[in-house]
Amino acid sequence: MAARPAPYLDELNPAQREAVEALDGPVLMLAGAGTGKTKALTARVVHLLNTGRARPNEILSVTFTNKAAREMKNRISRMLGQTVEGMPWLGTFHSICVKLLRRHAELVGLKSNFTILDTDDQIRLLKQLIQAAGIDDKRWPARQLANIIDGWKNRALTPDKIPSADAGAYNYAGPKLYAQYQERLRELNAVDFGDLLLHMVVIFQTHEDVLEQYQRWFRYILVDEYQDTNVAQYMWLRLLAQKHRNICCVGDDDQSIYGWRGAEVGNILRFEKDFEGAHVVRLEQNYRSTPHILAAASSVIRGNTNRLGKELWTEAEDGEKVRLIGHWDGEEEARWIGEEIEAQQGGTRGGRPYSLDDMAILVRASHQMRAFEDRFLTIGLPYRVIGGPRFYERMEIRDAMAYFRCVVSPDDDLAFERIVNTPKRGLGDKAQQTIQRIARENGVSLVNGAAMAVEQGAIKGKGAKALGELTTRASSWRFLQVNVGNQVVIDEFKAESADHSAKILRLMEQFASEDAVIDDENLGTRSNEDIQYEIDQLKSRIQVLEVYIEILEGNHVRFAELILDESGYTEMWQNDKTPEAPGRLENLKELVKALESFENLQGFLEHVSLVMDNESDDGGAKVSIMTLHAAKGLEFPVVFLPGWEDGLFPSQRSMDESGVKGLEEERRLAYVGITRAEELCTISFAGNRRVFGQWQSQMPSRFVDELPEDHVDILTPPGLYGGGYGAAAPTGMKSNLETRVAEANVYNSPGWRRLQERQSDRPVSQPRESRNTVIDLTAVSAYTTGERVFHNKFGYGEIIGIEGDKLEIDFEKAGTKKVVSRFICAADD
Ligand code: ATP
Ligand code: MG
Repeated sequence: MAARPAPYLDELNPAQREAVEALDGPVLMLAGAGTGKTKALTARVVHLLNTGRARPNEILSVTFTNKAAREMKNRISRMLGQTVEGMPWLGTFHSICVKLLRRHAELVGLKSNFTILDTDDQIRLLKQLIQAAGIDDKRWPARQLANIIDGWKNRALTPDKIPSADAGAYNYAGPKLYAQYQERLRELNAVDFGDLLLHMVVIFQTHEDVLEQYQRWFRYILVDEYQDTNVAQYMWLRLLAQKHRNICCVGDDDQSIYGWRGAEVGNILRFEKDFEGAHVVRLEQNYRSTPHILAAASSVIRGNTNRLGKELWTEAEDGEKVRLIGHWDGEEEARWIGEEIEAQQGGTRGGRPYSLDDMAILVRASHQMRAFEDRFLTIGLPYRVIGGPRFYERMEIRDAMAYFRCVVSPDDDLAFERIVNTPKRGLGDKAQQTIQRIARENGVSLVNGAAMAVEQGAIKGKGAKALGELTTRASSWRFLQVNVGNQVVIDEFKAESADHSAKILRLMEQFASEDAVIDDENLGTRSNEDIQYEIDQLKSRIQVLEVYIEILEGNHVRFAELILDESGYTEMWQNDKTPEAPGRLENLKELVKALESFENLQGFLEHVSLVMDNESDDGGAKVSIMTLHAAKGLEFPVVFLPGWEDGLFPSQRSMDESGVKGLEEERRLAYVGITRAEELCTISFAGNRRVFGQWQSQMPSRFVDELPEDHVDILTPPGLYGGGYGAAAPTGMKSNLETRVAEANVYNSPGWRRLQERQSDRPVSQPRESRNTVIDLTAVSAYTTGERVFHNKFGYGEIIGIEGDKLEIDFEKAGTKKVVSRFICAADD
């Protein structure tokens, strides 16, 4: 086939072209961020196809994520000017290995329809084995064993190959349990993630015919993000590439960020040894970022000693300096970034207005996302979370909100269905059907149906008691909910509490008297033990009453905590030993924290449901929120890097570790973060952050110190808490970085603490409004039909109907929608 013209080659610089056109033999492209490695790799695939060197299904092309694979496929089609039919072997290591293993499963004792276990299943299985071996899994957590086994698999070590140095792993039971675990997986016809590669390596090593077949078949092999391959992946590649030796790997040692998952930068060095005569191409021109951004990234990464070392340059115009800003706390940081995004959206920096698609927030830890999601929900800023569900879509958040919904709207049957057996109450399908039937027959909601079912004794077994508890709880929550602000009830509770206090005093007097017994007209003679018991009972009742009073006086945050506690939902996750459980608990705490900015549970639920409804993917532009790890290989004109604080970034764990390995990996992560930015990069940190409900003072990240002064603009934080900050703001904000950092530490001084305490005394019952946020208008009567209004997300429109606090609005751009009145304001505001 004659080669078609190749415009894709014209888009490359000479070094890239060299890498693309060196089709035969091993090629290693080693270059910094944004130098066009992925672009060159994609062009190489196109070139192979265009010159007829290989058919689409003869090219094995490995990307780091499925998203990257999809993007590469699209780019190949675009470069070729036609859709590529079937590139079955373009994907991640895992997706490619699943396909291969299904074909050859029998060679490792599996059937081709094997199941792939997730981490939860893996832990469960290990736990069984650990218990069977008589090992205390509290002292030796299953999670620890799972990590050890993953580590072995990443190094392509089967149970019979565990080196003697590892014999002591997991209290000397590791190797044996590993063997048992593999055996058990086989019996279950299952594999875990690590097995996908491990089994394929074993098959290639033990079945030469199979290996040869694929060596012949994959004429060309290409690997992106090569610095993050682990030993098993490397062995797999080497086995496959040995025949044709047409392997092209591209990577950047400075972007190796998966060491914690077994990736070995050493694979880069091994490549030249294993593939003698490899053509090594270095790229130095960066096409992505402005000089200021590059300078900042280079300056930070220079702090690492273990690197191959390379310099980047660019022809791009200077553009804006990297911006650095310190905030009072994490919420303020989120608020500021929200406003910045809105400001940038309309701006014309970089020659064209940015769309939301052009902007990304890259966080170190996923729990940082909540503050942003919440802020964006409040101001109606569309966003997407990449690499995980959005905060309010997470399972534990939906469960918790279902509980709240049951309390706020007892007719919400869907919510009740969700929680009736979560946590497990021993209510199987049959019990649930009984509840449904009784509710239907009596024309009542499920929660009432459940109460009737309990009364009638229609539910049998241990579920009956648990359901009885739930319905009793539900009615007491409901009682609290409808009586918020009811002074009569509050007074009653206070009186009850006072009665109990008085009684305790009386009992204590008796208790203290020489007489070991008292006479009570109802209870007769009792011992000191009995008295103590009664005192304790009364005390705990007083505690409960105090919480009830707080709730009735309007403390909905306390209410939410009470519901999650009394329902056993929080406890369910506390008792859960899977690796996800701590994260879920953290998310629940974030949820409770989020509630603080609303007046009551109802307002919060409306806020979430309304925005979630409107947020179903409408294909519109959205800000991206993701972790730094998920951002690898991506680029955005505008990037925000929040949370640069010691203990968060770099992580506490990396700081506690002896040696620099962990810290250097964190620094590479900082380098990855900065180099995602094309035109505008903003780094921020907060002086205070609430961690598990406790305020903690934070020090700016040590990486902030490593930024080059000449390329950084220090921004003055905006007024905080309605100007409270302004009065106390440190002077001379705009100075060099070190001074700035020192000033930031003023946040931690006693004076600042006092201010902070004063601030936190203040009841926070409404969202703190920013200039872009509409005023919370709860008074429905504020509107009339025909009035022109403004909504943050949908823009201008006219009210065409009013239904309670919901307004039907004909929006000029977005069409007719129903929105809650608190989210709109009069158009002339
Ligand atoms: P990373 O290390 O972050 O994965 P990379 O080296 O893979 O980066 P690419 O993503 O391929 O870099 O390219 C970065 C940007 O530069 C992309 O927008 C790409 O289109 C552009 N680019 C790459 N090579 C050239 C070139 N020769 N001329 C113009 N633009 C280019
Ligand atoms: Mg890339």
